[in-house]
Amino acid sequence: MGIVINTKTHQGPDDPAYLIESAPSTETVFNGRRYLYFGGTSYYGLHADRGLMEAGIRAWQDYGHSTATSRAGMGTSPLYLKVERAAAGFFGTDSAAYLPSGYLSNLAGLKALHGNGQFDVIFIDEHSHFSVFDAARAMAVPMYTVAHMAMGDLETKLKKHIQPGQKPIMLCDGLFPTIGQIAPAPEIAEVLEPYHGLLWLDEAHTMGVLGPNGKGVYEHFGLGGDGLFHGGTLAKAFGGFGGVIPGPANFIESVMHGHVVGGASAVPPPLAAATLAGIEQVAANPQWRQRLWANARLLKKGISSLGFEVEESDIPIAAFSPGNADTMKKIHRSLMERGIAIQHAHYAGIGKEGILRIVVFSNHTSEQIQHLIDELGQLV
Ligand code: PMP
Repeated sequence: MGIVINTKTHQGPDDPAYLIESAPSTETVFNGRRYLYFGGTSYYGLHADRGLMEAGIRAWQDYGHSTATSRAGMGTSPLYLKVERAAAGFFGTDSAAYLPSGYLSNLAGLKALHGNGQFDVIFIDEHSHFSVFDAARAMAVPMYTVAHMAMGDLETKLKKHIQPGQKPIMLCDGLFPTIGQIAPAPEIAEVLEPYHGLLWLDEAHTMGVLGPNGKGVYEHFGLGGDGLFHGGTLAKAFGGFGGVIPGPANFIESVMHGHVVGGASAVPPPLAAATLAGIEQVAANPQWRQRLWANARLLKKGISSLGFEVEESDIPIAAFSPGNADTMKKIHRSLMERGIAIQHAHYAGIGKEGILRIVVFSNHTSEQIQHLIDELGQLV
């Protein structure tokens, strides 16, 4: 209680690390104090949901905390198969693969596509998540970094580097999570078209969040057809743990036969059970998505009213720079003193000054959001 550890974290080298001493929710305890919380990724508040916790406890009692064999070993947990069926149902695909983490979804997905000879050269947005870069490098094929969301640069580089007979793949985040920008998937697909290229999106922050049915960026833009692939996580909107790749049967079969699924310990059964309950909850409550989007708009309207520019979208992340790193650090600390936790983020795609980053959930009340805006208004 009350401990503040000075260490190097994503908060930045000079900021204290906060000990999260409760389940993350609209109110969360850090270092012994309860804060109104606008951070993290629990978009529907499911990480603090009793139903998910109880599903986890039951599974712990029934199955223990690990199958103690990889999925290429002696059998598998029925829970993994249920998560995969529920995920395929949610995304409306033939199949889905349940992976040890979202971080590994990119590696597992790209390995399956590369193993099937579906691409020869990688193009990657410079602000892509670490996990996308790590997966891309592991393919050991020529790789070219593309300026952030710059279609002209992608076009030029494709022209320059694709030889006759070669197929490109473009990789990027479906949502760049530090500042909450949606990838321009239709424009990317159009630029790739003459090359019959593939698009791979890391949809860690968009699965369950974007699109009329929460299927993510492709559904949001009404995009469909061959060559569009994505992977994501079940550890954010769905309130569970582990990665997911939905897709056509033959592709998912390749993922399931890959080294990530076969070689790593699978998600612990209690977390798989909580994840299954989380997918069922998100599927059964489409009104949560409407509330999340409404809260996102309310938050962004409030920040704009203070004179700051934010990305306009239904994305529940708002990021803005009201000054240099020192100013942002001061605002961040003052809000913490007033019992409101937001993030001074130093994460993928942002410079060394960092950025103030606010996340809303579907279960924040409009009063809580207004309170944040009022307090922020006194500090900027
Ligand atoms: N991709 C992106 C864009 C992410 O933000 C994250 C989580 N921070 C991941 C992948 C990794 O997902 P997981 O936490 O399930 O490993």
